[in-house]
Amino acid sequence: GVRVEFEQQTIQSGCPFCGVGCQIDYHVADGEILYADGADGPANQNRLCVKGRFGFDYQSSPERLTVPLIRRDDAPKEPHAKLDPANPYTHFREATWEEALDRAAGGLNEVLKRDGSQALAGFGSAKCSNEEAYLFQKLVRAGFGTNNVDHCTRLCHASSVAALMEAIGTGAVTAPFNAAKDAEVIIVIGANPTENHPVAATFIKNAVKRGKRLYVVDPRRQMLSRHATRHLQFKPGSDVALLNAMIHTIIEEQLYDRQYVAARTHGFEELVEKVRQFSPEEMEAVCGVPADVIREVARDYARSEASIIFWGMGISQHVHGTDNARCLIQLALITGQVGRPGTGLHPLRGQNNVQGASDAGLIPMVYPDYQSVAKQEIRDLFEDFWGTDLDPKAGLTVVEIINAIHEGQIKAMYVLGENPAMSDPDQHHAREALARLDHLVVQDIFLTETAYYADVILPATSYYEKWGTFTNTNRQVQIGEPVVAPPGQARPDWQTVQEIATRMDLDWTYQSPAEVFTEMAQVMPSLKNITWDRVVRERSVTYPCDAPDRPGNEILFAESFPTEDGRARIVPTDLLPPDELPDAAYPMVLTTGRLLEHWHTGAMTRRASVLEDIEPEPTVAMHPRQLRTLGVEAGDMVRVATRRGEIALKARRDRNVPEGMLFIPFCFEEAAANILTNPQLDPFGKIPEFKFCAARIEPAAQP
Ligand code: SF4
Repeated sequence: GVRVEFEQQTIQSGCPFCGVGCQIDYHVADGEILYADGADGPANQNRLCVKGRFGFDYQSSPERLTVPLIRRDDAPKEPHAKLDPANPYTHFREATWEEALDRAAGGLNEVLKRDGSQALAGFGSAKCSNEEAYLFQKLVRAGFGTNNVDHCTRLCHASSVAALMEAIGTGAVTAPFNAAKDAEVIIVIGANPTENHPVAATFIKNAVKRGKRLYVVDPRRQMLSRHATRHLQFKPGSDVALLNAMIHTIIEEQLYDRQYVAARTHGFEELVEKVRQFSPEEMEAVCGVPADVIREVARDYARSEASIIFWGMGISQHVHGTDNARCLIQLALITGQVGRPGTGLHPLRGQNNVQGASDAGLIPMVYPDYQSVAKQEIRDLFEDFWGTDLDPKAGLTVVEIINAIHEGQIKAMYVLGENPAMSDPDQHHAREALARLDHLVVQDIFLTETAYYADVILPATSYYEKWGTFTNTNRQVQIGEPVVAPPGQARPDWQTVQEIATRMDLDWTYQSPAEVFTEMAQVMPSLKNITWDRVVRERSVTYPCDAPDRPGNEILFAESFPTEDGRARIVPTDLLPPDELPDAAYPMVLTTGRLLEHWHTGAMTRRASVLEDIEPEPTVAMHPRQLRTLGVEAGDMVRVATRRGEIALKARRDRNVPEGMLFIPFCFEEAAANILTNPQLDPFGKIPEFKFCAARIEPAAQP
């Protein structure tokens, strides 16, 4: 045989999956990634999880989009039909970039002229770089003339951000997850880091090994529970009852930090009044956790030298998600567990750039750095800076945009890297909306379920093929460097967004992502002292940063909060039940989430061979006793139904799921969990209640 030798190269870049922000050495030869190793990034310190180590080969999938596509005139947009991604030519034809861009922008311009700015909307993506996110929101605001721009933060931590902004004037974490090493007590609530932030979980486990006390608080048990001092398995949806009972204990037993409360907060008296009714003894029946355990954990959290709280979607994805987060913030504020090593509030951010995309302004009510669109002086600043009039009204959020399509208000959309046909709640409703649009432009790396409804599809570059900065859950701005070339005619997203912008009369002439970053830094105080060159040189810089030659501040708010008077605001909360409670017709509670091996809607990981081999099919997890009650074995087909639809999938045995509850991951198109979920929103964060709805399960015909 002939032996061919390729020159192998190692290029350091980041991980395209979760918000931990691991840095990775990619070993590349002949334009292909051969394997990946953990690099010594500040967040991962050489560690990687299975996704980062083995999940990269979606990049070279034969299903990658390599040419622009235009919908055939006779191709119907059937709301519930499926398209074969291997043969898109039944619905789409290939086009040149020029034709596709003209058609994409032409359709947007037509709707703009005919129906006005409010008939347009855009979904950006937390998979995009900071520069792409910034340009996309600028296009929607300055080109479309509306604030109808949002992204998957709305389905993720929008309620946490709402609560944090209200209380302490910022939406980001107060300390990195590595701060767990300096804590005495660690609370992980409504999060499953071993599956969803696996490398962060290793730091928590290391801390426990060194003698720190860990409390895992969740209706489902999890791998981390094995390392915990206690697992508090409360009843789904009763978070506020449990947390208010902890706060009650701390106040009643005088364990709060008087000096801190007096000097650093407002609203303590109202809180004292509110939580009087929430004694652990009364709340025990509501949340299912014994009163003495509630008191024990509350005492330990309050008395310890340093306590830190981590939370995830189990807190945020509820109609009372903002209230849940308010309670966690109150725990920290009344005990002074913020601003010192080992203390803090850390909402574990989901996507690799959800922090950065939010910072960059992919949010309908704020410009970059959370500056309100409704404030005249801020709007004046951005109008001057961008050289155009801007919409004074906050835009619509993800689910509101879907509803506005049904109501006939929104008629055209530009979707960059999001997959609402899979990720939005009540999927039938969402897909019917996408099918109704007069004009839909989708820019992505695959022909996603959303792209099926597109009029024009623009092939994008994956994480591995472009330059950009990405901000992880720790507020670390990190560089993403191209590792391989994009396939076919796929182009970097910033260039494509610019091509659309120039066709919508915007005078954009950006030459590189570096130039975009420089512009962002002029209107984003968070990027002070951080330049593109510095991020390239140092690979990771934490914001906020006091000087160009000093590292950023990892632990924030030792002295004051970024509020008007420097103090935090305590907002007491009431008990709100989930929107849809179980009843005779739908007696179970359904909750949804992710799996270790699959990422969100599965667009990437289901095309990653190792990950798909490990978790190849949809399952519904339930307690072994639930299986027996149903009269089925693990692996048998069952049907799960809610008021919105029904899916058939295999039953899975899982002791971690309590009886009466079902867990379904939302990444499988063939049995899409979001057909079932409830679109009801939290009134503040506008986040849907993915974590709780009433469901029914029954045996199905076996194949
Ligand atoms: Fe990637 Fe997150 Fe896994 Fe790190 S922990 S390798 S960032 S998926």
